[in-house]
Amino acid sequence: MAGRLEGKVAIITGAASGIGLGAVELFAGEGARVIAADIQDEKGARLQERFEGRVRYVRCDVTREDEIAAMTAAAASEFGGLDILFNNAGISDRMLTVEEITAEGWDWIFSILVRGPMLGIKHAAPLMRERGGGSIINTSSVAGLQAGFGPIAYSSAKAAVIQMSRVAAAQLSPQKIRVNALCPGLIATSIFGASFGLPRETADKLAAMIAATGPKVQPIPKAGLPEDIAKAALFLASDDSEFVTGTYLLVDGGLTVGPRSAWDPNAPNPF
Ligand code: NAD
Repeated sequence: MAGRLEGKVAIITGAASGIGLGAVELFAGEGARVIAADIQDEKGARLQERFEGRVRYVRCDVTREDEIAAMTAAAASEFGGLDILFNNAGISDRMLTVEEITAEGWDWIFSILVRGPMLGIKHAAPLMRERGGGSIINTSSVAGLQAGFGPIAYSSAKAAVIQMSRVAAAQLSPQKIRVNALCPGLIATSIFGASFGLPRETADKLAAMIAATGPKVQPIPKAGLPEDIAKAALFLASDDSEFVTGTYLLVDGGLTVGPRSAWDPNAPNPF
């Protein structure tokens, strides 16, 4: 049976780890050829080796427009064009309040989480137009919808990703390019530790803690895993979502559905 992305070319940023890595594995398994972009060269090289001929690692720091332009150009030179862009690279920042954050810290977070995806869309669109259309997926977060799930700069940036996706969806619709945002809940990856500069081992322990916490705080009592988000990204990337643009898809095990009393019969009802 043909894969759901047979004949398609995809770019995935933040591809060396977590959700991005899960998406590379799933997309390649579904027949796509993938430009895996990240700043972790060793992991990227291993990924390319693992999926020889199907996945090409490209170093791309999403804060740099020249590297984003080279990444999109690689899709054309390596695989002949571009159909899918998964703007997924990200970091979190320390839990600073609005009174603690610096202007530089704010700009740094926005340069990775908002300006990077915007530049990705800008450079991907002409290539997608040549193919008669495409699909762009931008990773937002539950933190972009509700307070309490992340620091102020991170949360504000993830909210901006949703609106950027909607405006880009409107602007690119004549070119048959769909643009959607994806809002993961608590996913067991090393993002929290890695963004604090913690050694990999500690970051992995944190990921294990998130895996253990998730089931206790959401209606679906299982740990959110990278493949849960990769499967939603596959839906948005594939023609199965041909009637879906300018929206966001929450994949959070129900984390944001309401107060605990709404789904846990043993929790005290405050009303
Ligand atoms: P992760 O740390 O496992 O993966 C993030 C990847 O992005 C890493 O491989 C990292 O090297 C890469 N990256 C960081 N800065 C980069 C840059 N400047 N240029 C290119 N690549 C860069 O974390 P993850 O959880 O897989 O994160 C993926 C996305 O999901 C992020 O946008 C994150 O904000 C979002 N997200 C994660 C969660 C969660 O609970 N894990 C929840 C909501 C949203």
